[in-house]
Amino acid sequence: MKTVVLKFGGTSVGNIDRIKKVCKIIATYKKKKYNVVVISSAMSGVTNDLVNKSKSLSNSFDLAEYDALLSTGEQVSCALIAGRLNHIGLKSRSWLSWQLPIVTEGNHSGARINKININELNRYIKNGGIPVVTGFQGINKNYRITTIGRSGSDATAIMLAKYIKAEECIIFTDVEGVYTTDPRQHKKAKKIKKIFYDEMLEMASLGSKVMQPTSIQDAKLNEIDIKVQSSFASKSGTLITNSKKSFSDQIITGISSTKNDAKITIVGVKDRPGVAASIFKPLSKNLINVDMVVQNISQNGKNTDLTFTIKSEDLKKTENLIKENKSISYKKLSFDKNVSKVSIIGVGMITTPGITYRMFQALASKKINILVISTSEIKISVLVSAKHVKKAIASLHKEFKLD
Ligand code: ASP
Ligand code: MG
Repeated sequence: MKTVVLKFGGTSVGNIDRIKKVCKIIATYKKKKYNVVVISSAMSGVTNDLVNKSKSLSNSFDLAEYDALLSTGEQVSCALIAGRLNHIGLKSRSWLSWQLPIVTEGNHSGARINKININELNRYIKNGGIPVVTGFQGINKNYRITTIGRSGSDATAIMLAKYIKAEECIIFTDVEGVYTTDPRQHKKAKKIKKIFYDEMLEMASLGSKVMQPTSIQDAKLNEIDIKVQSSFASKSGTLITNSKKSFSDQIITGISSTKNDAKITIVGVKDRPGVAASIFKPLSKNLINVDMVVQNISQNGKNTDLTFTIKSEDLKKTENLIKENKSISYKKLSFDKNVSKVSIIGVGMITTPGITYRMFQALASKKINILVISTSEIKISVLVSAKHVKKAIASLHKEFKLD
């Protein structure tokens, strides 16, 4: 018998009717003679509400208690699912992470799963039961409850699929799959049938919020194929995989964009070793994430300009850190708060020449100015003025035949 892990996100279990619907979906897999393991997130809004409660009591809420608090949402949804499955005649029970246990390593709120004991689950499945396991939480070696990062239930599902040796891992969510670009930004966005882990990793970390990036890393490392599909509409979704079978010859798989980026340029800094390091050291100490970086080639061998991007919310702090930095000198600081990064992603670009040119040409034809460029093996990103993002996505979507 095949084993399938079914994971339901917060909106999929967001109210009583949806929980009933989810139980119907689970029943169809049981009917198809699958061994089924269910993972659930908390009902939508619940975890945020718990975060707010902790904040209103203390702005330095104890981290272990914070995890103990946040993990409760999943207990509720899992018990509701198991209870409903019993009601419709299916054998089911819930498991909290510590009852298995799901053992984690690392800091509270950002722990990683490093072992899942599946003995009890296996016994229960063999006897025809459907275990419903809490996502997002674990227990550490000191027997404290941990959580594995917001949206972490995806990672729980993937790690459980690994330990239980599931044939399939299906992530049920509120969208029908992964799209070539954000359908809210561009009407011609299309559902992607198959996407490579690496491409998905780029799409996820660049802001397509379908899945949590670390969970895709886990899937890639363990070679677990993931299906993403909607719990509301019974349509085929997107397969995230490494298998080369029946991939189309599309060069670019998707286009993503960021919101709330800011650009900083330091004009006339000394062009000598160690300067860039002295600029970025205080930023890294203050946990400010620097994204794109370019340094101009110095004209006279003495001075150069350095441009980089950060999140807009870090702009004030970054400005102050640069102004207070005694170890650098410069002529001028300039800022741009309204910029966005637009990226084209596809493993096909490794072997196809001319992609960079086509991207730049498509943007030029729409009179979109490129501020900063960065590339990796499977991605080209450009920074543009935020007001041009929609237009940029539309022209690239067309250029790379994604329409
Ligand atoms: N309930 C948790 C959160 O909202 C975990 C999850 O949804 O996957 O982050
Ligand atoms: Mg969620």
